Formats: sequence, structure tokens, C-alpha cells
Amino acid sequence: MFKAVLIDKTEGKQQVAITSLDEASLPEGDVSVSVHCSTLNYKDALAITGKGPVVKQFPMVPGIDLSGVVEHSASPDFKPGDTVLLNGWGVGEKHWGGLAEKARLDSRWLIPQPSAFTPYQSMAIGTAGYTAMLAVMALEERGVTPDQGEILVTGASGGVGSYAITLLARLGYRVVASTGRQEEAPYLVELGAENVIDRRELSEPGRPLAKERWAGAIDSVGSHTLANVLASTKYGGTVACCGLAQGMDLPTSVAPFILRGVTLAGIDSVMRPLAHRVEAWRRLGELLSPHQLEAITRPIDLTQAIGVAEDLLAGKVRGRVVVNMA
Ligand code: NAP
Repeated sequence: MFKAVLIDKTEGKQQVAITSLDEASLPEGDVSVSVHCSTLNYKDALAITGKGPVVKQFPMVPGIDLSGVVEHSASPDFKPGDTVLLNGWGVGEKHWGGLAEKARLDSRWLIPQPSAFTPYQSMAIGTAGYTAMLAVMALEERGVTPDQGEILVTGASGGVGSYAITLLARLGYRVVASTGRQEEAPYLVELGAENVIDRRELSEPGRPLAKERWAGAIDSVGSHTLANVLASTKYGGTVACCGLAQGMDLPTSVAPFILRGVTLAGIDSVMRPLAHRVEAWRRLGELLSPHQLEAITRPIDLTQAIGVAEDLLAGKVRGRVVVNMA
């Protein structure tokens, strides 16, 4: 038997509880993993609370990230005792995920645990940090360099935002953090932000074009915020679009694109090809120190995951949480 967060739905109503399950109930897969750590991302919180249509079938064990040790493997790529990492691939949405002591998975979804990090540290980073790295790489690939000016990070106190600030600052970019939590300004400055602005400056409907300010941006908020960021991005700049914390809509116009040559770079972490994942984790290993991971993260245990998911959607969680199984 093993413990898991289990989401079920009866008569249109979602229930969620910590449940003891038989290993025979695990889904199909060629690798079984003893999960050491998982984490809570925005998507996990939507799944657990039922506030977003994340779960595609019930019952479901949520958790889009996990790190653990292989127990059984029918794959030539992994053997018992190997430490592995998983981010995305629909796990925790269509296939039982990481908020459990055990998982059975498709070996093609796994990567070897990056040697720079312990399982705990890789979950401190998780999909949020890996997505922030993909977003930074998107700016780099499109020629945004530190000498071009300020880079805006929205949703700054969240998981993606905290890592985006840390990584950009480490690479020498001048970072401006947009947050709804002014009390977190010292934290954001400690991560590497030069300046902190109030997110209300960006969250209301604005003009199609505004004064040029940002050389680039990493946005995890969407909606009017992203529209305003695009409107104030400098000629030739790039905005990496990662999330929808304000909304899924994008009430913008073509003006930033056809008059200022702005690029909107879409960032998807879930179905990202293996080579990009491995490269993103290699870069994370180069750029992040254990001290930085500690500043961003706090540990919880599985029994706390449901309550903390509510807090995360209420905007009360700073940075990241790691869910320890043992
Ligand atoms: P998170 O830790 O909850 O951070 C989201 C942050 O957004 C909050 O901390 C808050 O920052 C800000 N925010 C919340 N509600 C807002 C609102 N109504 N208006 C403006 N800002 C608001 O979540 P996360 O794990 O970092 O994920 C952030 C977003 O990225 C989510 O939408 C998630 O689904 C998405 N995401 C996408 C991918 C991908 O593959 N594209 C991967 C990971 C995450 P402040 O308090 O500092 O304002």
C-alpha cells in the first residue's frame, strides 16, 4: 500500500483526500518509481482545488513533477536504483502523478536526475524553474542581451517569477519585478531584482502602444498584464509568454508586432522534446546555487499538500514548496 493525494468526482462534485492505495491500482507503465519528493505548481493547485479543468480523467493522482528512485524497470534505459526526474508529459492530468509515494510511468518521460541537484533540489526547481529557464533561453535565442535594457518579470513572487528573476540576474540582466505583494520587495531584491513595481500598473486595460520600456519580459500572468507588457516592449524586443495567473485572454492588437517588431515567444514545458529538457536542466545546474534554492523554497509533507494548494491559488505562497514523501 502507498499514500497519495487522490482526486475523484461523483455527480459532478470533486473530492480530494490523502488515500491509501494498492500498488496494483497504479496505471500502466514500464518503470515503477519510489517517489522521494514532489512539488506544488500552479497547475497542481488548479487540479487539487478543481478551480481549473486540469484533470482529464478521474480518479487522478495529481502532481506534474516528481523525483525518485527506480524500483522496477522493463526499459533498457533505466535500472532499479537509478534516480530519475519527471516534469509534465500530462502526468498529474491524464496519468497518475507525483503527489504519491509510488508512481508507474512511461520511461520516455523520465530523465536521469541532473547531477547538479539532489532530488529535493530538483523539486525546489520543478516545472516552475525549468519553465523559467526555457523562457530565459527563448530571450537569448531571439537576441535579447543584458546591454539592451531592463527585463520585466511579472508574477514575480510566484514559482516561475522567482526563478526567472534569479536566472536573469545571474546572467547579468537588469531585472524589474512586478508583484501584487509589495511586502515581498526585499525577497525579490535578494533574488536579484533591481526594481520592484506594483502589478496594478499593468493589470487594467491599456493602450495598444505605450512608452517603450522593456528590452524583454517573462510573463506568467497573461490577460491585460501581457497586453500592457507587449505595448511597452522596446523596438525588436521579445516577450516570453508562460502563464495565465490573471487570465487566459490576451486583449491586445497587432500594433506591437507590426510597428515595433516585438516577438511573442510561447513557452510550453509539458510536451517539450527531451533534448530541450536536458539542455534546460544543464543550464539550471550551471546557474543556480544551493543557497538560492533555499531562499526560494520551503518543505511540506504530503498531508499538507491539499491545504497549501488552496493557499497557492489565493496568492499566499511565496516561491516554491517541495513535498517530501518520507
Ligand atoms: P504561482 O507560484 O502561483 O505564481 C503565480 C504568481 O502570479 C503569483 O505568485 C502572483 O505573483 C501572480 N498572480 C496571481 N494572481 C494574479 C492576478 N490575478 N493578476 C496578476 N498576477 C497574479 O504559479 P507558478 O507555478 O509560478 O505558475 C505561474 C503561471 O505559469 C501559471 O499560470 C502556470 O499555469 C503557468 N505555467 C506555465 C508553464 C508552461 O509550460 N507554459 C509551466 C509552469 C507554469 P505576485 O504576488 O508577485 O503578484
